[in-house]
Amino acid sequence: MSVAFFGGTFDPPHRGHLGVARAAAQAFDLGTIFFAPVGNQPLKPGQTTTSFEDRLAMVALACEECQPEDTGKHTARFVPSAIDAPQPGGRPNYTVDTLDRFRREMPGEQLYCLVGADSFLSLRQWREPGRLLALAEWIVVSRPGHSLSDLSPLGLTQQQRQRVHLIETAHFDISSTWLRERLAAGDSARDLLPESVARYIRDHGLYRMSSSAGE
Ligand code: ATP
Ligand code: MG
Repeated sequence: MSVAFFGGTFDPPHRGHLGVARAAAQAFDLGTIFFAPVGNQPLKPGQTTTSFEDRLAMVALACEECQPEDTGKHTARFVPSAIDAPQPGGRPNYTVDTLDRFRREMPGEQLYCLVGADSFLSLRQWREPGRLLALAEWIVVSRPGHSLSDLSPLGLTQQQRQRVHLIETAHFDISSTWLRERLAAGDSARDLLPESVARYIRDHGLYRMSSSAGE
């Protein structure tokens, strides 16, 4: 059985994330996809203001709303994971350490790391890219505005390139940044969010322009 690690800030999780996971599950017949919100994303220092607890709760709701019966004939389970929870002293969470832990905790499993095109194209900025590519096979899903047609800037060896699998047919034109802007402007953005996540955001007053002012 194979498992995939799907990390991100998930601030908030949206239909693009779920679409990416579905596409990967179908293409690679994955058993479980772990959706793991990151405690402190090294490439976005101080930019994530929504708490880890809220992001994990929203990821759990998104996973619950999208279980196997919704994914057709494929049986992948979408599971929320706190493996990338905040570390003592607010230390950054490095994916290389997280994949290392996955490998130790699930030794017999075929491990994939699932990412969108924009994330993968920034791989050279990540800690220990060589070891990252050795620790897991990578599934890279296309994203509007980020072409996967030329991976040469990444300088992958032939052996590394063989561990990178592209899904180039996805076109989910959604980002959490855009969602946060819409939500701050008072739009419920229902079309881009799982129903339960939209409700959580509303009930907890998240992403309002000035949620602390005057309340
Ligand atoms: P933000 O705008 O805050 O960066 P985001 O929409 O990019 O949010 P992240 O939590 O940063 O979401 O992304 C988590 C992972 O999901 C990353 O690997 C990212 O590339 C991928 N991803 C997110 N949205 C899409 C999308 N629409 N298409 C393809 N991949 C996506
Ligand atoms: Mg992003």
